[in-house]
Amino acid sequence: LFVEPDLAAGGNLTLGKDQSLYLAAVLRKGVGDEVVLFNGRDGAWLCRLTGDSKKSVTLEIIEQIAPQTPKSDFWYGFAPLKSERLDYVVQKAVEMGVGTIQPVMTQFTQVHRLKPDRLSANAVEAAEQCEVLNVPEIAAEISLDRLLADWPETHGTRTLLFADEGEASSSPVAALERLAGQSIGLLIGPEGGFSDAEREKLHAQPFVIPISLGPRILRADTAAVAAMALIQAIIGD
Ligand code: SAM
Repeated sequence: LFVEPDLAAGGNLTLGKDQSLYLAAVLRKGVGDEVVLFNGRDGAWLCRLTGDSKKSVTLEIIEQIAPQTPKSDFWYGFAPLKSERLDYVVQKAVEMGVGTIQPVMTQFTQVHRLKPDRLSANAVEAAEQCEVLNVPEIAAEISLDRLLADWPETHGTRTLLFADEGEASSSPVAALERLAGQSIGLLIGPEGGFSDAEREKLHAQPFVIPISLGPRILRADTAAVAAMALIQAIIGD
């Protein structure tokens, strides 16, 4: 379970209403039961319930059972999709080991108002589910132009894999094999794809490598998961 406070041996914690209800009513934990907590900084900690009211569960922090894992270097940029699909890509990005989730506004992006709290809650839930001790950062949205202009300064030598259905012959496997051990970014477009002007701009960047994910046009959420799986299979940890 993800919590905000610092975790250290001998400490005590009181959970808020939602998490208390979740532990007491959904997971059916009672006084004396153990639960593992993490906060994204201090590793995983074994804790014991000392009070189990549905409104406020209290816990005693017993011992660290896993050290903090370092933040993943894998960067994922995507044009925001409509709500359920957005929830899905955030969840899958966490499961696939992304370290930074970056909404990127492109010409054909249809969703302009994001709900950062909802995105973060999804990321936390996915991290809890797949036992990732580092909840990926959800960066504030940025325009594609700004992203490309700032890339060398903000990303250094990171390569940006630009997934585009127009790249019928650019197999990602060979490109990824050459990138083993290096910092990787993945860019996935919106429902309407990238515009020709955006494609031209992306192709002109020395840090961009265009990749194809096969001859069919995949949904943006499918393309994201397919590309992440390939990246993890070929160069992931
Ligand atoms: N209209 C569908 C949707 O609503 O999701 C398909 C959108 S497709 C244009 C969205 C993005 O997925 C593209 O901009 C590209 O990044 C990626 N994509 C889809 N098919 C691909 C393929 N065969 N190769 C590489 N990237 C692909």
